[in-house]
Amino acid sequence: MSVLARLLAALEGGEVEIVDLTAPLSERTPIIQLPPPFANTRGFELQEISRYDARGPAWYWNNFSAGEHVGTHFDAPVHWITGKDGLDVSQVPPAQLIAPAVVIDRSRECAADPDYLLEIDEVRAWESEHGSLPAGGWLLYRTGWDSRASNQEAFLNADERGPHTPGVSVDCARWLAEETPILGIGVETVGTDAGAAHSFDPPFPCHAFMLGAGKYGLTQLANLAKLPPTGVVLLVAPLPIVHGSGSPARVLALAPR
Ligand code: MN
Repeated sequence: MSVLARLLAALEGGEVEIVDLTAPLSERTPIIQLPPPFANTRGFELQEISRYDARGPAWYWNNFSAGEHVGTHFDAPVHWITGKDGLDVSQVPPAQLIAPAVVIDRSRECAADPDYLLEIDEVRAWESEHGSLPAGGWLLYRTGWDSRASNQEAFLNADERGPHTPGVSVDCARWLAEETPILGIGVETVGTDAGAAHSFDPPFPCHAFMLGAGKYGLTQLANLAKLPPTGVVLLVAPLPIVHGSGSPARVLALAPR
């Protein structure tokens, strides 16, 4: 049997499960809110063209509009100034869109501290238990934040000092970008950086270091709790928007059952 026939048999037999890591995309999808003077993204909107009516008797279709960074989405290197000479989202090689993934779970820590920051030592401790981070693969960072994804206020978790959502420390972001062979980081929050990362040095270190190193980001992932720590294959499908800085993406995981 060919390798693809074996894969299909494993999918059909339930040996391999498809887990959808994508949040549904609608007017209710939470969006990031930058403080003044910065410009903000549009949310997702549908505009009906026709629905089996005089405008189109046998067909239903819509226009949609949204920012590139809305919902479950892909950050391309050109999204950040440190990656401005890097790839736009249409240039990401297809061979990188199917890649291994591992999951580090800090949901308990993040429930206790919404400003929780992942540190190098924790990733190293994870590696001594599960093996090295995958070369050319994703580090998926589970924080439990996907349980808030249907509520913009809970998802952004902001007070007068700004948003409080978990992320990665400056040292860990630099290390992941420069010292590990990963392709990118995937998170459950509205962006790959912590809510308080505007005040870090440098600000938004995950964006600055990862995208500056030509690596990628994935945000607003769902269902990471359904994945084992290792042995997962991720299919990531951003739209090939020419000159795009990112794109809403369908993200599917193939996981052993
Ligand atoms: Mn983004």
